Amino acid sequence: TDIKPVSLRQVIDEALLLLMPQIKQNGVELRTTLPEDDIIVRGGKIRLEQVVMNLVSNALDAVRSASKPRVELTLAQTGSYAVITVSDNGGGIDAEVLPQIFDPFFTTKDVGLGLGLGLSIAYKIVHDFSGTLAAENDEAGGARFVMRIPVVDAQT
Ligand code: ADP
Ligand code: MG
Repeated sequence: TDIKPVSLRQVIDEALLLLMPQIKQNGVELRTTLPEDDIIVRGGKIRLEQVVMNLVSNALDAVRSASKPRVELTLAQTGSYAVITVSDNGGGIDAEVLPQIFDPFFTTKDVGLGLGLGLSIAYKIVHDFSGTLAAENDEAGGARFVMRIPVVDAQT
């Protein structure tokens, strides 16, 4: 297949560029924290962009009714893993639905607004590249998604 070294800075830049109109239109404050040095993983560029876009567009949906809507994206390296975190200051994920959010067709959105496929696709893609994807609520109440993928040439 087309698994090759991919720049995560490029993945993030391109995914955010595509979502910029929606971010601006909704008056969302976007905070990004990127490392000075790029992080390279083995994967498919388009598929990784799709993962980032799915996570950020869910965050944008979640902050729609926030008074000061904010979405944060960080990229960092922890040991031999690249870690991308997408968090928001929306309403968070209800505890009773948390175990189901990665299931295909699971959605809490109104008919026509969500097919419930974004997270199941993201989960599969990340696992195809030997990574993990997890969701949690942060201390302030919003949701946080953490994606980890092994870096290329990691010192282990
Ligand atoms: P969809 O966006 O079409 O509903 P997804 O698979 O992307 O499908 O997400 C599934 C469900 O996970 C959403 O309907 C929502 O209930 C929950 N979810 C995902 N991201 C967030 C988030 N940032 N904040 C709160 N809930 C979320
Ligand atoms: Mg979605």
